[in-house]
Amino acid sequence: MKKPLALLGALPLVLLLAACGSSAKGNDGTTSVVASFYPFAYVAEQVGGTHVDVANLTSPGVEPHDLELKPKQVGAVQGADLVIYEKHFQAAVDDAVKQADRSPKDTVDVASVIKLKPLQAGAEEEGHGHDHDDIDPHTWLDPENMVAVTRAVEAKLSAVDPDHASDYAANASKLVSDLQTLGTDFATGLKTCKTRTIVTSHAAFQYLAARYDLTQVPIAGIDPSNEPSPAQLADITDLVRKEKITTIFTEELVSPAIADTIAKETGATTATLDPIEGLSDATKDQTYLTLMRKNLETLRKANSCS
Ligand SMILES: [Zn+2]
Repeated sequence: MKKPLALLGALPLVLLLAACGSSAKGNDGTTSVVASFYPFAYVAEQVGGTHVDVANLTSPGVEPHDLELKPKQVGAVQGADLVIYEKHFQAAVDDAVKQADRSPKDTVDVASVIKLKPLQAGAEEEGHGHDHDDIDPHTWLDPENMVAVTRAVEAKLSAVDPDHASDYAANASKLVSDLQTLGTDFATGLKTCKTRTIVTSHAAFQYLAARYDLTQVPIAGIDPSNEPSPAQLADITDLVRKEKITTIFTEELVSPAIADTIAKETGATTATLDPIEGLSDATKDQTYLTLMRKNLETLRKANSCS
């Protein structure tokens, strides 16, 4: 009987600590960071190390495009020492940041760090009410963009917590070095591909394709919840046959049904190309870096890059 009683006694304290998580400095003196989804949370964790407490607004397994925030999360956006997000990607986060009236001094908007590209032709939303401003948000799939995000996070973390600035600088340099190696390996690894077209589940890979001279043909548009029309499907099927594409790419957080149909009809196979919008049960032990390396191997195999 003693153990359950002790646990019960501890409960209010746990709740109290959890409730304090969204306030400015935590009890242990860590700096609170709110990141809107996984890749930016990853950067914050790497740069901040033990000095930060990072909350990710997009839970694992949740497709982030149409994220909705709980009142508690809206409060966290208000109270965090630093918020990292990208305008034009998650409308609920844009609203929460606006509502919180945060200063640019303690907010990283990746859309003002990286020049966002317009949607690639064919990826426009069809018949959906969402307003994505005709902008492609998928910046993080280009490692060079992640270098810029890392430097921006380092600068603002150091501004809100100057006591640990030298640690943030050292951590950022380590991550930048890893990202640059990743970028070099992509450039080298994709130089000799026989096929330069990639048929992807949704239009997430424009930044990656542009950097490494590939052409993306997305099955769905910019938002994975869109579905292609029969005419679009027929076009993609024709293209797969004409360009002798061997692989239709699917992703973890989106149903592979349409990709499977195209693959079946054309004799192609399917493989997972991860847009790294979040981790799932299958990828919970991975990181941005390991998932990108997996993507590189998948691309090299699919497009015959030897
Ligand atoms: Zn996406």
